[in-house]
Amino acid sequence: MDPIRMVDLKKQYDFIKKEVDGALAEVLNATTFINGPAVKEFQSDLERYLGVKHVIPCANGTDALQIALMGLKLEPGDEVITADFTFAATVEVIGLLKLTPVLVDVDPQTYNIDPAAIKAAITPRTKAIIPVHLFGQAANMEAIMALAKKHNLYVVEDNAQGIGATYTFSDGSRAKTGTIGHLGTTSFFPSKNLGAYGDGGAIFTNDDDLAHFIRGIVNHGMYQRYYHDVVGVNSRLDSIQAAVLKVKLQYLDFYNERRKEAAIRYSTLFEGHPNIVVPFREGNCHSHVFHQYTLRIINHNRDGLVDHLNAHNIPCGIYYPVPLHRQKAYCEPEIDETPFPVTNQLVNEVIALPMHSELSVEQIDHIARQVLSFLDDSSKN
Ligand SMILES: *Cc1c(COP(=O)(O)O)cnc(C)c1O
Repeated sequence: MDPIRMVDLKKQYDFIKKEVDGALAEVLNATTFINGPAVKEFQSDLERYLGVKHVIPCANGTDALQIALMGLKLEPGDEVITADFTFAATVEVIGLLKLTPVLVDVDPQTYNIDPAAIKAAITPRTKAIIPVHLFGQAANMEAIMALAKKHNLYVVEDNAQGIGATYTFSDGSRAKTGTIGHLGTTSFFPSKNLGAYGDGGAIFTNDDDLAHFIRGIVNHGMYQRYYHDVVGVNSRLDSIQAAVLKVKLQYLDFYNERRKEAAIRYSTLFEGHPNIVVPFREGNCHSHVFHQYTLRIINHNRDGLVDHLNAHNIPCGIYYPVPLHRQKAYCEPEIDETPFPVTNQLVNEVIALPMHSELSVEQIDHIARQVLSFLDDSSKN
């Protein structure tokens, strides 16, 4: 059995080596490293894949969030509601722009932002909501869009972990995550479901005016060369990354399908165990692309399980060990824990197992056996 990795980019590269090497050689020979044809081609391929009017590539997923918020012309002190249980990038950009982050609790079933908690947090200063499609599972966009409409709020979907997921509305209509809100963002960090060979990100929108405004922001606020109309940033996807992404986009559905198969195999092996809660999934599972496969370990020793797996050369991850409301950079001087019962529980219970498109059945079974043998050895409780 091959060594087990959290993600196995080497094995993935070996499968697509010829295509990737060819695409890279093209960029190197043309030396169009910035704004080369590969960037435009990838942009339109991704627009077609997502069924969205505008994809605006940028340098990384954190920039994508910052630029999306800049695109909304918010004022310092305006409130932006987001989840307490997510990667810090989301709340970091809110702080950088001198907006006020309002953190809310998550749903105990999906670990995604809880629409009831959003509703309770809305004030006259609220301007936007940033749902995160955490671990690859679509947030409850129908409820979120309804709240946004009622209170005249913007919705920016952080789709860094969810690219390729399909959300189904109650009337049966469907849309890719990241294309439902006013803006969507993603990251092409190498370990994401659609990963570059370096940094990359993108912003999505169906709104022509927002797209035009944001295309200027990513390019120093220029709409005409050397005329700077707004304070912008310099944030570009380079041609080398675009060339890699253009190749890999063709395989995204295949990669996500492999992840789903791995997740279902894990869950089948774990389901019904008294100390394990497997990830929630809806019927056909279109709404989850398993960026992470995250278990909750209940009434047992989660940290002991981490040590046990590491001792057996099985990597695992805790996403995330500290809720945002307790991070030094973002916390209030007096922390009120009452609004965050779910997050506070999740940080102590979650563990993410290796998840990628190259996991073999043998590896999955081996990982599951090690998890179960630790949990069932009562001396470890
Ligand atoms: C990865 C990630 C980001 C940031 O992406 P970078 O490309 O690393 O800047 C933002 N939000 C979430 C939820 C992420 O997982």
